[in-house]
Amino acid sequence: MFYFENIYVEKEIADHPRTKEIVDKFPGAKNILVDRYMDVFGRARQNRLWQKNHPSLLLAKASGQLIYPGAPVCQDFGSQHFYYVSSMKNCLYDCEYCYLKGMYSCGYVVIFVNFEDILEEAHRLDLRLSTEAGEKEGYQGIYLSVSFDTDLMAFDSITGYARLWAKFAADHPMVTVEIRTKGGPDISALLPEGEEGLVENLVFAYTISPQPVIDSFEHRTASLKARLTSAAKAMDHGASVRLCFDPMIYQRDWKDCYTHMVEQVGKALSLEKIRDASVGTFRISADYLKRMRGVEPDSAAVQFPFETRGGYAGYPRALEDSMMTFLEEKLKEAGIEAKKIYRSEF
Ligand code: SF4
Repeated sequence: MFYFENIYVEKEIADHPRTKEIVDKFPGAKNILVDRYMDVFGRARQNRLWQKNHPSLLLAKASGQLIYPGAPVCQDFGSQHFYYVSSMKNCLYDCEYCYLKGMYSCGYVVIFVNFEDILEEAHRLDLRLSTEAGEKEGYQGIYLSVSFDTDLMAFDSITGYARLWAKFAADHPMVTVEIRTKGGPDISALLPEGEEGLVENLVFAYTISPQPVIDSFEHRTASLKARLTSAAKAMDHGASVRLCFDPMIYQRDWKDCYTHMVEQVGKALSLEKIRDASVGTFRISADYLKRMRGVEPDSAAVQFPFETRGGYAGYPRALEDSMMTFLEEKLKEAGIEAKKIYRSEF
């Protein structure tokens, strides 16, 4: 179980039932009332390394726009309307190469407790886009990425948000809800009450990495075996499963690592039944990388001599291409159709 030394609570949501529920789960934490969470989160000169060993939680109210159109660099899997939701900031897992380390100078986790406002906005967006499309062009639905700026499943025992999204997906067949994770959650715990299965428009996107990459760089996340077991169960329960081989991380023996990983994936899952797969090597905004290198001074994953192209840092083009092509070939040999494999490059 995770622990927090302090829980900072915005005064405005101090009496919110979810605030109380979350606070009660950490009786050892000191509770501190604040006017706005940004008073703590947005402070200058924060030390993420120190904060890692002294974790605190912030409970806040999300305001303004709650759902955002996806940036052009996001993999949208061919969706017409791609949006993302940020119901939390930062993560309980600790991947050395996580972009959040470059994005936020504060390492504390933020949970926005007014989750129902987010659901309401998603509902209204679905309604608006379907009305606008009318019979003219036909409505193909929304693709909503909900595990953004965090790993939602890692927190589900604290927030219950994944279960609420599962229910939302069941009630909104034209909204495809994607929950991306590096965990190995017990999917049966997400079944909406009275339901035996999950709906197909609920997508579990598992980041799949070789075990040596997990051991070296994806601290506190689930093992490859646990991720695959969870993915197999999600498929058994009727949910769609996406496999994200992204980011691929370079290691000297990367070919052996990724070959062995594909063998394990092929043994654990019926690959012809997955929704699709994405392949991409590590890449990040050059500005974020600068900050991440300060937070992870000893990490081979972020200290690699990257090449910068168009404001993004990544492996040299030839290496990037050979890693992705190698993996794509292995995935096809293992039984994933070429048309289901999406490549993410920058
Ligand atoms: S699981 Fe995702 S959000 Fe969490 S630390 Fe790793 S990369 Fe970051």
